[in-house]
Amino acid sequence: MDLTKSHTTEKYLGCDIKQLMSHLEKNFINGMSWENRDDWQIDHIVPISRAKNEEEFILLSHYTNLQPMWAEENLKKSNDLGFHNVKGRLIKKFGVKGEYQQYRYETSVDFNCFDCGKSKTSKLVVVFNDNWSNIICNGCYGKNLSKKS
Ligand SMILES: [Zn+2]
Repeated sequence: MDLTKSHTTEKYLGCDIKQLMSHLEKNFINGMSWENRDDWQIDHIVPISRAKNEEEFILLSHYTNLQPMWAEENLKKSNDLGFHNVKGRLIKKFGVKGEYQQYRYETSVDFNCFDCGKSKTSKLVVVFNDNWSNIICNGCYGKNLSKKS
C-alpha cells in the first residue's frame, strides 16, 4: 500500500493517514517500529482478494481490517490460505509498487502472464491489484513500471 496516495487511500480506509499510523502503532508486535518499516508489512486481516464486489472491497479496505505483520509471517499466511493459485511455496514478498506486488517462489513455477498471455516459468511473479488471477511476468512488470514513470 502506498501511503502517499492519500486521497484514494483515505476514501477506502475510513480514516486519515495519522489515524492509520496510530492504529498500526497500537498493533505493533515485538519490536516493530517505523525504523524497521521494511521488515513488516501492512496486512489485510481478511484478504482483500476475498471481496466479491465493490461493497465488500470497500469493507475489507477499511483500516480496522489492517494490521502490521512481520513480512515472514505474512508470507506464511499466504501459503497457508493457499490463495495464490500457483503450485509452489512463496518465500519472499517485495515492496508494493503502485498496484504491483512482486513475489518470489522457492522454485520456478509455471504460470500464464495476464498481460502478454505467454506461458512462463520463473521464480518471480508479480500480482496486479492484489488479485491472484492477474499474475504477470517480470518482463511485463518492468515494461509497465517504465511506462508509468
Ligand atoms: Zn508478460
